[in-house]
Amino acid sequence: MTGWTDTHCHLNDTEAFADPAEAVREANENGVDRLIVVGVDGESSRLALEISEQFDNVWAVVGWHPNSAASFSTDGLKEISAAAGHPKAVAIGEIGLDFHWSYATLEQQKSALFAQLDLAAELGKPVVFHCREAYPELLDILEARPSHPYLMHCFAGGPEDADRALALGCLFGVDGPVTYKKADDLRATLRHIGLQHLVLETDAPWMAPHPHRGKRNKPAWTALVGQGLAVALEIDPEEIKRVTNANASRFFGI
Ligand SMILES: [Zn+2]
Repeated sequence: MTGWTDTHCHLNDTEAFADPAEAVREANENGVDRLIVVGVDGESSRLALEISEQFDNVWAVVGWHPNSAASFSTDGLKEISAAAGHPKAVAIGEIGLDFHWSYATLEQQKSALFAQLDLAAELGKPVVFHCREAYPELLDILEARPSHPYLMHCFAGGPEDADRALALGCLFGVDGPVTYKKADDLRATLRHIGLQHLVLETDAPWMAPHPHRGKRNKPAWTALVGQGLAVALEIDPEEIKRVTNANASRFFGI
C-alpha cells in the first residue's frame, strides 16, 4: 500500500535533526514514504539537497525565507539559482512575507521575494510560500503577475484569502493545527477549499499534531495530520491519502 507524503519538513535543521537518515527511516516505518525537505537560506537549501541525494524518495525545495531576507543578496540569488538546477530540487521556497516577526524589513523581504519569483518564472519551477499575517499583501503581489504554480504552505488565512488564492490556482498545505481542538475556523476554511487543492505537511520540527502538540515534530507523524484532515472533511483517510498524494505528485513533478 502506498504511504503518505510529507511535502514540507526541515530535516536540514541540524539542531532538531542531528541524524536526518534516522528521521527518514522512522517516517518510512510509519507509512510516510515521500518527503520534501525545505530550505530557508543558502546553507539550509544546500543541506536539503545533500539529504535528498541520499534517498530515492526525498526531494528538496530551495529558497530564501522572508525571516532570513536580511542576509539575501545577489550572491544569495546565485546560490539559489544554482541549487534550483539540481535534479532533486523540485520547487523554489520557502519564500514570501512574514509580518509577525521582524527579522527583516519589508523592503528586504520584498526584494528577496521578487528576485526569487522572477527566478522561478525563468526556470519554470513551482513556488512554495511562507506567509504569516500578510495574505492580502502577498496575494496583491501574485495577482499582478502572470499565473504560475503556487503552494501556500501551512495555510492559516481566512476564507477570503483562500478564495483569492484559489482563483490563482494555488494549492494549500495542511499541517498539525488541523488536529487542534480549537481550530474550528481552520477546519471550516479547509472544507471550503476542498480536498482537490490540499497537500499534507508536517513542517517538522514545528507544528506537531495532536496528541504531540508542543513536542518536536517529525515527518513520521504525517499520518496524524492526514487523519485530522479526514475528520475535518468527513472523508475516508485512504481517500485523503490518495488525493493529497496525487496533488503533491502533480505540483512537484514527483
Ligand atoms: Zn517551513
